[in-house]
Amino acid sequence: MSDPIIVIGAGQAAASFIAKLRSEDYQGAITLIGDEQHLPYQRPPLSKKYLLGDMAVERLALRPQSWYEENHITLKTGVRVSQIDREAKAVTLDDGTVLNYSKLMITTGSTPFRLPAVIGGHLPGVYTLRSLHDIDQMASEFKAGRKLLIVGGGYIGLEAAAVAAGLGLEVTVVELAERILQRVASPATSDYFRALHQQHGVTIMESTGLASLQESDGRVSKAIFNDGSELAVDFVITGIGVSPNSQLAKDAGLVIENGIAVDLQSRTSDPDIYAAGDCASFDYHDQRIRLESVQNAVDQAENAALNILGQPVSYQPTPWFWSDQYTIKLQIAGLNLGYTDTVTRPGKREGSQSIWYYKDEQLLAVDAMNDPIAYTMARKILAAGNSIPKSAAIDPAINLKDFT
Ligand code: FAD
Repeated sequence: MSDPIIVIGAGQAAASFIAKLRSEDYQGAITLIGDEQHLPYQRPPLSKKYLLGDMAVERLALRPQSWYEENHITLKTGVRVSQIDREAKAVTLDDGTVLNYSKLMITTGSTPFRLPAVIGGHLPGVYTLRSLHDIDQMASEFKAGRKLLIVGGGYIGLEAAAVAAGLGLEVTVVELAERILQRVASPATSDYFRALHQQHGVTIMESTGLASLQESDGRVSKAIFNDGSELAVDFVITGIGVSPNSQLAKDAGLVIENGIAVDLQSRTSDPDIYAAGDCASFDYHDQRIRLESVQNAVDQAENAALNILGQPVSYQPTPWFWSDQYTIKLQIAGLNLGYTDTVTRPGKREGSQSIWYYKDEQLLAVDAMNDPIAYTMARKILAAGNSIPKSAAIDPAINLKDFT
């Protein structure tokens, strides 16, 4: 391969991809192109320790600058890829540069949905939470006593709520669905986190839509809900989901299906182009899914690297995820897609418990709150393709290890 392997998007998946290529002894040229100004960095702390002011910005970087130099990576930051020419095997950057590739890797991530401008989504004081730039924009708003409205009761919104409540802000979370976390978790998990936030003084409004945001003196000042109620606000954070960054791939004629469609070797519909992470969809237990997690970004990117290097490996993950809220660490093993019921296992410490998801008698996933043993054992049970009877899962006297 004389032309470089080019990577579009310098985030979590990109960092794992190039590290894997080098650790597998790939000696060829690698060019990494990212539109943010930073070295590839980890996003999870953005809604946790970093937002709280408990983590230095340098610690966000996945690797130091020197690593890219030592590993002979050509790193171009602050520049966007605007076009892929599959026939010429070239990409065009928005500064006009054209670069040829031998293989192309797309790790462009995803973009948060914004509230429409007609309901005030464009007003100063309304933020999304995706990038370091977003945090820099909103950091000065986090002062005790200020009123924050969070639109969307998913993990990112709830993590931001926990940080803000901890800093003494008055926090309200509004969720259109019947319950917070409805898209991703069971009623039992929603109940747990609703109670947790309420204990910390957060107001949770469920089954309620935001009708509009109003301004005074040129910035957001009031929220009006679809039940007619109103709330004075100082600022607003939206956490209403993301869409995969697949437009570039679409324009290049690649197959798009809930993101950039890849096979189990992480290859797109063009055999010289691979994709991984938030932007890519793949088959998982007969469904085409996208996962927005560090686990997926890392493992799928490494899978792509191995396949590019001629080692045929299928991507068959046991997904895992985590969320930190107050002193609670939620760890999730597996994917609860299509679950029929759940059972709850009490934990040994105060506040610790785990929710076990089943499709009929087959274990699918576990949400473990401050219960690392339940999480670790569940991961092992799932990775081995095993299950555990519900009667055993709920019995704290049963040793989960016996089922791994
Ligand atoms: P990203 O890391 O987003 O990287 C994509 C990069 O590509 C971005 O820098 C983007 O700007 C760039 N890009 C896009 N288009 C172009 C272009 N045309 N040219 C050049 N560059 C481009 N996951 C967990 O597992 N646990 C957590 O607790 C957790 N917490 C999170 C908290 C927050 C606030 C956020 C935002 C995410 C969190 N996630 C968490 C999700 C996880 O961070 C993502 O799934 C992961 O970053 C995806 O990696 P990626 O490489 O696909 O995308």
